[in-house]
Amino acid sequence: MDLSSVNASPVLADPVPINQTILGFHSSVFSLSSGTSFPLLIPKKKPGKLDDVRSNGWLDAMQSSSPPRKKMLKDVGVELACDDSDLVYYSWMLKYPSALKLFNRIINRANKKKIVIFLDYDGTLSPIVDDPNRAFMSIDMRAAVKGVAKYFPTAIISGRSRDKVYELVGLTELFYAGSHGMDIMFSAEDTMSINHTDYIRSTDKQGKDVNLFQPAKDFIPMIDEVYRTLVEVTKDIPGAFIENHKFCTSVHYRNVDDKSWPLIAQCVHDVLKDYPRLRLTHGRKVLEVRPVIDWDKGKAVEFLLESLGLSNSDDVLPIYIGDDRTDEDAFKVLREGNRGYGILVSSVPKESKAFLSLRDTFEVKDFLKSLVTWKEMSDADNY
Ligand SMILES: [Mg+2]
Repeated sequence: MDLSSVNASPVLADPVPINQTILGFHSSVFSLSSGTSFPLLIPKKKPGKLDDVRSNGWLDAMQSSSPPRKKMLKDVGVELACDDSDLVYYSWMLKYPSALKLFNRIINRANKKKIVIFLDYDGTLSPIVDDPNRAFMSIDMRAAVKGVAKYFPTAIISGRSRDKVYELVGLTELFYAGSHGMDIMFSAEDTMSINHTDYIRSTDKQGKDVNLFQPAKDFIPMIDEVYRTLVEVTKDIPGAFIENHKFCTSVHYRNVDDKSWPLIAQCVHDVLKDYPRLRLTHGRKVLEVRPVIDWDKGKAVEFLLESLGLSNSDDVLPIYIGDDRTDEDAFKVLREGNRGYGILVSSVPKESKAFLSLRDTFEVKDFLKSLVTWKEMSDADNY
């Protein structure tokens, strides 16, 4: 399949389906046509072109990444005093109950099933901070993650590059999926579905044999080129920060004056219009530029479960904890077929495909610690 024919628009609301099963495709479906070159195109600024980003909804999406409280109340249909945030939050929790409050129900369902833990990183294990390079997890959180990984298969699925998220987490006992699941690494002995051809055999930084799954590997030169172009065209916008995640790239505007958000949107729009095989998605004060392939965090969850021999939903209870729009794809996978629990981390009401909620990273840590305590007590009882 030649991805150049997939879509002429650089911006898609949803990925274009490639109509292949998770493990059934051949790597060639992700290949670009031979001889494709990616000339470095640095667009000239075009005065009066802001209508582009206004008419295509980019600015609306950027502004709604941190919606004012009144807007959120309307979204969830709650009719309460707008400044009474606690009451509003507790009303919202009727639909998305606290995973801490329903902890006993979760472990009752997990009885005799194998729990598998999937964790987002930013906003889930670490607080959201102004400088993405300083989004560190606490010592307590690292201990909690290490604890769950001792008893349950545990994977981190982040929008960051795999190397970067490993550097921030620093635990060798986890599975890591970077770039929204487009860069997955297993140790060689952990990979059950070794019979398909999409793995690359490699070695990790400790020299251990690993298998890599990288469905967007052919996009690496294109992403690098777009990253460099975005750095160039945004260099005069104070606070703009471009991050290269190898298989995708991020434009952070958290520290950009909101008067300059239209300019950021226009710069990204002008760059992407020359790359029909890339698309844009919106995160929390960040624009994500990603390849147009049918792959997301939900697909990564299914792939990890299948590759680890844990896809039988009668025996396995997956739990996915995340805070961002990109985590909704994983929540959706777990909701469909009632396979497990999606847990949204949010301190404000918002619509989600998750079943449950946690308010912040402190509650995430408490939930992970509760799982460890429950496991240790139930193992002691069975001894
Ligand atoms: Mg996040």
